[in-house]
Amino acid sequence: MYRSHTCGELRAENIGATVTVAGWVQTIRDKGNILWVDLRDRYGIVQIVGETGVVSDEVMEQLKGMGREFVIQVEGEVIERYQKNPEMETGDIEIKATAVTLLNASITPPFTIEDETDGGEEIRMKYRYLDLRRNPVQEKLKLRHKVSLETRKYLDTVDFMEVETPYLIKSTPEGARDFVVPSRMNPGQFYALPQSPQTFKQLLMVSGYDRYYQIVKCFRDEDLRADRQPEFTQIDCEMAFVEQEDVLNTFEGLIKHLFKTCRNHEFDGDFPRMTYAEAMERYGSDKPDIRFGMEFVNLNSVAQGKGFGVFDNAELVVAINAKGCANYSRKQLDALVNWVKRPQIGALGMIYCKCNEDGTFKSSVDKFFDQDALAEWATAAGAEKGDLILVLSGETNKVRSQMNELRLHMGTELGLRDPNAFAPLWVLDFPLLEWDEESERYHAMHHPFTSPKKEDFDLIDTEPGKVRANAYDLAMNGVELGGGSIRIHNKELQARMFELLGFSDEEAKAQFGFLMNAFEYGAPPHGGLAFGFDRLVATMGGSDSIRDYIAFPKNNSGRDVMIDSPAPLGTEQYEELYLESTAKEETAE
Ligand code: ASP
Repeated sequence: MYRSHTCGELRAENIGATVTVAGWVQTIRDKGNILWVDLRDRYGIVQIVGETGVVSDEVMEQLKGMGREFVIQVEGEVIERYQKNPEMETGDIEIKATAVTLLNASITPPFTIEDETDGGEEIRMKYRYLDLRRNPVQEKLKLRHKVSLETRKYLDTVDFMEVETPYLIKSTPEGARDFVVPSRMNPGQFYALPQSPQTFKQLLMVSGYDRYYQIVKCFRDEDLRADRQPEFTQIDCEMAFVEQEDVLNTFEGLIKHLFKTCRNHEFDGDFPRMTYAEAMERYGSDKPDIRFGMEFVNLNSVAQGKGFGVFDNAELVVAINAKGCANYSRKQLDALVNWVKRPQIGALGMIYCKCNEDGTFKSSVDKFFDQDALAEWATAAGAEKGDLILVLSGETNKVRSQMNELRLHMGTELGLRDPNAFAPLWVLDFPLLEWDEESERYHAMHHPFTSPKKEDFDLIDTEPGKVRANAYDLAMNGVELGGGSIRIHNKELQARMFELLGFSDEEAKAQFGFLMNAFEYGAPPHGGLAFGFDRLVATMGGSDSIRDYIAFPKNNSGRDVMIDSPAPLGTEQYEELYLESTAKEETAE
C-alpha cells in the first residue's frame, strides 16, 4: 500500500493518527535543524516536518536530500501546527515524518510548478505534463470532467442514448476544410475526418433511435484563433418528432442543470430570445454579449443631409453611447480611433461627440454639426451629460461588424463584462443562405440539411437570400455556445437545397447519396444541435480561452509542441500510402 491518505484530506480530526502519504515535493524550506516539505498530489498539499532530535537522523538526512518534484512516500504522525495556515485545506496540521522513501527522483523542472508559475506559455506547452500538475490547471480539467459527467447524467434522465459514430468518414459540410487520411488499402483514396457527426446523427433518427447524443471530437482545418482548435469536442445531439420549441426547451434544461450542478449558478427564468435580424440591428453580432447594454442606435435620420459627405454617402450611420466617458482625453480618443482603424477591425475612422457636464457638445465634426444637431444625436442615443457618443458609418454589414467590435472593446474597457456573470441568449431565425462574394454563390449559413421556415417557402425561388431557416444558436457572454436546426427530412426539399447551393445532381449524389437514399425509407421529422464543449466549459470557468480547458491543446499554428506534430512521414510511409510530397526534402529519415 503506497498511501493511507491523499495529500489533500488530512484535517484536525486526524491529529494523532499514523499515516502514509505519497506525492511530489513542491517546495522545501530548510532552516537547518528544522525543515518543511510541501508534498503535493491531485487532491491537495500537505506539510511534512522534520526536526533534528525529534525525527531520526536518517529521516532528517533523507528529507534534506530531496529536490523539487521528487516523488516520495512519507510515513509519520499527524500533529497540530503551531502556525496554522487558513489558506490551505490541510493548514491545521502537519505530518511529523518517521520514515521517508524516495520513489523517484526528478531533474529540475523548467518552471515552478505552483499556482503562480514563472514559466511562459510556450515552455509550459512543451512540458504540458508538468504544467498539468499545477493546481489552477487541474481545477479547469476537473470542471471539464464534472460538466461532461453532468451532461451524461442529465441527458440520460431525458432518454438520450449515447451512440458513437466513426471518425474515418467522408466530407461533412460544416463549412471548413477537411482533415484527410490516406487509405493504404484503397490506393489513392482518402477518408475525411468528421467536421461533426451531422449526417450520422440524422441517419440514427431514420433508424429510430429517437434521442441521440455524443460527447465527440470534431476536426476542422481552419485558421486558428484563441477560441478555436483543429480538433475540438462537441456535445452533439439529435431528436426525432420535435419542433424547434422542443429542442430549445430540452437544451435550455441541460444548460441550467450544468450551471447549477457545476457552478452553483441559477438563472432567473427562461433564457431570453431574439431573432437574428434583431441581434444584428441592436448589436451587430449573431452572438451578442448582453451582460451590458450599449446598444446600437441608428443615426441615419439625424446625421445625414447635413453636408458631411462621409455620413451622407453611408448606408448606415450607427452610434453607441459610452456612459460616463465624456472625460476621455484627446489621447484616449485618438487611441480609440486607431483601434477601430486596425486592419482586424477595418474602419476608416470614427466620429465622437462628448456630452459635456455643462450641457454643451463637442464633436470631431463640429464643422458640419452645430449644437442643436448634436443635441439630436444625444437624444437619439439616449446620451446624458457626461456621456460619450461614438459613431461609425459605411456599408451596413461592415459597419455593424466594426461597431460590434468597438462595443465589446468599450464593454471590456469599462469593466462591464464580468466573467462571473452569465447572460444566455437564444438567437433564432437565422438566414438559410449567405452569399459568398468569392465563389459568387450561396452557401448554407448553418449547413445544407437545415430546413427553411414554412412561411418563407415562396421566397426560395424568388429571393433565396431572404429565406429564414429553422436554425438557432445559444449565445452566452458574446460566445456562441452551440447551435442547431430543424432538419429537412424530405428528399425533394433536400435535393432542391443542394441545387440552391450549386451542387449538380451527380455531386449531391456522390457526396450525400446515402442520406438521400435513407430519406426514402421513412425519415421522421427531426432536429438537434451541438454545443462546443470546450467553449462551454471555458465560459463556465469565466475564461475566453478554450486552450486552458483542454489537457493537450495545439498552438495557434495547429502544432502540438510537446509531441512535435505535425511531422513529415518517412519515405516508406509515403510509398505505402501512394503519396508523393512536393515538400519531400522534409521527409523524415
Ligand atoms: N452539426 C452542427 C454543427 O456542428 C450542429 C447541428 O446542426 O446539430 O454546428
